[in-house]
Amino acid sequence: MTVKDILSLKGSQVLTIEPTATLAMAVKMLAQRRIGALVVTGADHRIVGIISERDIVRMLDERGTVVLDTPVAETMTRKVVTCAQGETIAEIMERMTGGKFRHVPVVEQGRLVGIISIGDVVKARLGELEQEQDAMREYIRTA
Ligand code: AMP
Repeated sequence: MTVKDILSLKGSQVLTIEPTATLAMAVKMLAQRRIGALVVTGADHRIVGIISERDIVRMLDERGTVVLDTPVAETMTRKVVTCAQGETIAEIMERMTGGKFRHVPVVEQGRLVGIISIGDVVKARLGELEQEQDAMREYIRTA
């Protein structure tokens, strides 16, 4: 199964935020949309960063609630690891485990075309395991 297969099931919508938006705005979006991260995009829709709930919790712990008025650009991670639609679930799992993050934006020819979360990866992998199990049962039954 590939990233493209996952996107064809969940869709290509990605919630983005501007680097000049405040952390309070990011918190509102994360809470209302029940997601864990926002891709930060510039005026030309290019990815300039990613901000996750963990970044915000860390900043709140370090600096207190005053950070809620600061721009997202000051808290986001700038070096974003992305993937392409043709990559496999196994490759994405490896990237998430190696980088210790749970979100990977999908980029095609410089354009943001989706996002894969750890939840998507686990769901897809469970589906694959179920299929493999069914195939094995059928093989044993008809052998
Ligand atoms: P997460 O596990 O996605 O909540 O993110 C944990 C940390 O990794 C946070 O500092 C995020 O800003 C950062 N992060 C999340 N996704 C990515 C990514 N695709 N590339 C680089 N850093 C990321």
